[in-house]
Amino acid sequence: MNSVAMKAMDRRYISRVIRGMPATDGAGVELTRVIGQPALPMLDPFLMLDAFRSDRPGDYIAGFPPHPHRGFETVSYLLAGRMRHEDNAGHAGVIEPGGVQWMTAARGIVHSEMPEQEGGLLEGFQLWVNLPAAHKMDPPAYQEHPAGIIPEERHDNGTRVRVIAGETALGTHGPINQPLTRPLYLDVALPADQTLQEQLPAHHNAFVYVINGEVKAEDADGRELSLQRDELGVLSHGESVSLGAGERDARFLLIAGRPLNEPVARGGPFVMNTKAEIRQAFDDYESGRF
Ligand code: FE
Repeated sequence: MNSVAMKAMDRRYISRVIRGMPATDGAGVELTRVIGQPALPMLDPFLMLDAFRSDRPGDYIAGFPPHPHRGFETVSYLLAGRMRHEDNAGHAGVIEPGGVQWMTAARGIVHSEMPEQEGGLLEGFQLWVNLPAAHKMDPPAYQEHPAGIIPEERHDNGTRVRVIAGETALGTHGPINQPLTRPLYLDVALPADQTLQEQLPAHHNAFVYVINGEVKAEDADGRELSLQRDELGVLSHGESVSLGAGERDARFLLIAGRPLNEPVARGGPFVMNTKAEIRQAFDDYESGRF
């Protein structure tokens, strides 16, 4: 096999296309569940991806009143609108457009996430990232960064890459530090007809989620496949990925992380390794031990 063929083997392709399904969560927030639904229950270490985008206050105004989490991290990233969060440890703040809150719930937190607006567009994502068994009961922690802190890489072809977590092929580092899953979280704006080449750790699970426009990539047979708005493409393993825009500008998330390869037991807002640990979480929460 020549080196060109070997190189092609290292390139990731789209192994599956998933369309999000409508869901209601919190006190009646209408959203799209992309990961964490029957077609894609998880993509280790990612347990859930919700996308929300609405300018109808009735879809979001009820928000997410106080609720607990244990055993993983919740990552909120906003494109438009403002969300206020508060927790039972006295931590509070407002996430604004372009800002990220990376909350390591770990052994437990009770928080609320409420829209800080009565009208207008609210658009963003919540990603759940699992924690390994050895760290599920660590103390909770936050990493919060406003838009201005998140570096934006600009390429000669006009591509802009906001680096929330991880490192790009050009060496731009995001502000999030999470050595347990070493996540990459990129928000990419790709001009029409342009292509992004990016490097990824070969054995990390990764996906693309299209926010606007369409994204072109190869399928398993090397044919061009087109992902539409609100579609997620699961990427095969490999060291690099090539993602192109169509006739219009495209925007997408490119997210990757180290799989934990551990048993997963879920119970509502808790994600542990065993059913017994889930029962313990409910017991601890109901007994006020969060
Ligand atoms: Fe929450």
